[in-house]
Amino acid sequence: MVIKSAEFICSNTKTDKLPNPTLPEYAFIGRSNVGKSSLINALTQRKHLAKTSQTPGKTQLINHFLINGDWYLVDLPGYGYAKTSRTNRAEWGKFIKKYLFTRENLQCVFVLVDSRLTPQKIDLDFCCLLGEKGIPFQLIFTKADKLSRVKSEHNIGLFCQSLMQWFEETPPYYLTSAETRLGCDEILTLINEVNLK
Ligand code: GDP
Repeated sequence: MVIKSAEFICSNTKTDKLPNPTLPEYAFIGRSNVGKSSLINALTQRKHLAKTSQTPGKTQLINHFLINGDWYLVDLPGYGYAKTSRTNRAEWGKFIKKYLFTRENLQCVFVLVDSRLTPQKIDLDFCCLLGEKGIPFQLIFTKADKLSRVKSEHNIGLFCQSLMQWFEETPPYYLTSAETRLGCDEILTLINEVNLK
């Protein structure tokens, strides 16, 4: 898919102000600092579409971007920032769950995972939550340029193995880098295929 246009539409702190659910929607989520904003910018080939975080975990907004006038890319607030208070975390949970569980035009959630790390409980728990609710998701392993292919594949293997405790099959995954755009075209191709269905 060629990105002809990428337009910021709105930021919301409440799910009742989201754009009308008339277009297919793809959400991106992960731990604060996982590289979500950088990946969104790499995918759309726009340097500053999503704001890369100076203060991780601070923005608790759902950001909608309209891509090529025919689908929404949704930037969800990151989870698991250590300095966020317990109250903030609980608020995050309620807000995001409401979005994930009720958004009727949501086609797929892309869960971003840092490819440098061994499986983290918070990421696994989030995948389980999606699985329990039957929300389609795929995995995006980020920052691949920061380590060797062997090491990233090793961590991916461990992550998928951990998921197998709960899932019959592992979801599709992409190994990506915002620096080199590794994996970006594959993600856009998947979105295009789903949109054409
Ligand atoms: P977010 O909090 O998940 O939106 O994370 P950001 O996109 O702001 O990225 C967090 C930090 O990781 C920033 O310093 C980025 O420059 C860096 N980063 C993100 N993606 C990559 C990547 O693919 N490769 C490298 N080398 N650095 C990255």
